[in-house]
Amino acid sequence: MTAPGLRCPLCRGTRTRPWARARDLEYFTTEDEFAYHRCPDCRLVFIDPVPADRLAEIYPASYYSYGPPDRSFAARVKQRLDAAAFRHVLARVPGAAVNVLDVGGGDGAHLSMIRELEPRTALTQVVDLDERAGRLARARGHRYHQGRIEDFAPPELFGLILLVNLIEHVADPAAVLAALRRCLAPGGVILVKTPNTASLDARLFRHRNWGGLHCPRHWRLFDRGNFTRLAASAGLRVDRFRHTQGAPFWTASVLAWLAGRGLVRLSAARPVVRHPLYPVLTPLFAAFDFIRTPLGGRPSQMFFELAADDRAEELTGQSLRSTRHA
Ligand SMILES: [Zn+2]
Repeated sequence: MTAPGLRCPLCRGTRTRPWARARDLEYFTTEDEFAYHRCPDCRLVFIDPVPADRLAEIYPASYYSYGPPDRSFAARVKQRLDAAAFRHVLARVPGAAVNVLDVGGGDGAHLSMIRELEPRTALTQVVDLDERAGRLARARGHRYHQGRIEDFAPPELFGLILLVNLIEHVADPAAVLAALRRCLAPGGVILVKTPNTASLDARLFRHRNWGGLHCPRHWRLFDRGNFTRLAASAGLRVDRFRHTQGAPFWTASVLAWLAGRGLVRLSAARPVVRHPLYPVLTPLFAAFDFIRTPLGGRPSQMFFELAADDRAEELTGQSLRSTRHA
């Protein structure tokens, strides 16, 4: 007989097992090792315990990059890809005016890009935790709510909501999606980007500080199947899905592996994100992921386009009606 594992935060199952241990080699905010577990029933990978009381420590000031705009080749390629992704989604959003919400949107860079791409853009709103990012976002003409999305109650609804590499940073992703569902205008779209545990690099580097763990800042890690079920539980359906490149995870993983073999040196003074090989390796891995994705390769980032599930709405309506008539 095996002892029950920790309770899975997604499906509540108790068959979870230790999956990996990792350290923060990207920013060296702490020397501590963190434990990740996996649920065999829903395949969620999760950190335990959640370092929720250590946010100021594990998100260093350097985490939010404020410098002048990055004009490197890699940055410009990424901007063009972001623009293409936004244009694609915006084409599906109905209405003469579109309110856009970026959760975890920092200084509002994505919103500024969307405002240039889409003449229908009306209100642009950031919800994020950082005060300095708020000043920059407001200076760019965006509204800024400093706080959690669960506590954000706007009078407007949003036709496009961005949730780009945010959902994996929170302890209760179901609560975040439920909050977004309440903010979504009729016909609106939620664009989610999140790491993929069913990826080649996750498998190769599971026990070697896989970059996708972004340890200890990623708390809940998904694959296509369990994220789709999570969305359904919040009354959202996946309209479109695609993989996209996860080059920074490859680079972080490979540098950690090389450091483990004594071939490169990582330290608090030279963490992964400031290592001179970082900007060299990242475009190479991006190219690798681009080439293999159409051939059936599974890179470590996923895009989901979510819409309100009308069937869920009907069910809610029905249960409301039956409550009223009871
Ligand atoms: Zn589970």
